[in-house]
Amino acid sequence: MTEQIYQIAIDGPSGAGKSTIAKAVAAILKIDYIDTGAMYRAIGYKISRDGVDMHDEAALAAMLKTTDVDLSEGKVLLDGEDVSSKIRTPEMSKMASACSAIGAVRVKLVELQRGMAKSKSVIMDGRDIGTNVLTDAKYKIYLTATVEERANRRYKELIEKGEEVTYEEVLEDMKQRDHNDSTRKLNPLRKAEDAVEIDSTEMKFQEVIDRILGIVGK
Ligand code: C5P
Repeated sequence: MTEQIYQIAIDGPSGAGKSTIAKAVAAILKIDYIDTGAMYRAIGYKISRDGVDMHDEAALAAMLKTTDVDLSEGKVLLDGEDVSSKIRTPEMSKMASACSAIGAVRVKLVELQRGMAKSKSVIMDGRDIGTNVLTDAKYKIYLTATVEERANRRYKELIEKGEEVTYEEVLEDMKQRDHNDSTRKLNPLRKAEDAVEIDSTEMKFQEVIDRILGIVGK
């Protein structure tokens, strides 16, 4: 008997643990994990690397036309080049947040994301998955935590990677990104009406996983 394909959408603010959780759930359910934030980061990286003026419509359109972003075996491929580690810096977080507010960027990436989820079961995380990219997803989760807790988790991650940052800087960045992501005109971050909200502030990693597996009935 062939199992029905299904989609799990996970949205929420930066640093709520979406990607770590989604990756773990994908491994348990043996389905693909699609990190849409990484795709915005890859575009932000290319804009910055090539010095493209993202507010120049023609220049941006020309760049997007010849740009390919793919996710393969846990790697982020920009025009075939593995940019997985280059996109994980505080600067690229800001670039991703800035370019994600531009319509042409969203149109391009949302189309790619829908294509990736077309014929297989996936768990996809981002900001607008349940409200825009996969509105028909069978399961929708809104994963959140207080901004202080999210900043604390991100700060520890960056310190482990050897980045020189202070907790206050990370907290300020986090607040700024929350503001940008939830107030932008196009597909702002918000909980889909039919999403289940999980506040992970006081939860252990395994508790969040178990909660999600419970929601999808596994
Ligand atoms: O999830 P991550 O922090 O890697 O995402 C980087 C940025 O990309 C976010 O701050 C957000 O502005 C943008 N993004 C988005 N829509 C998504 C995923 C990410 O606008 N579906």
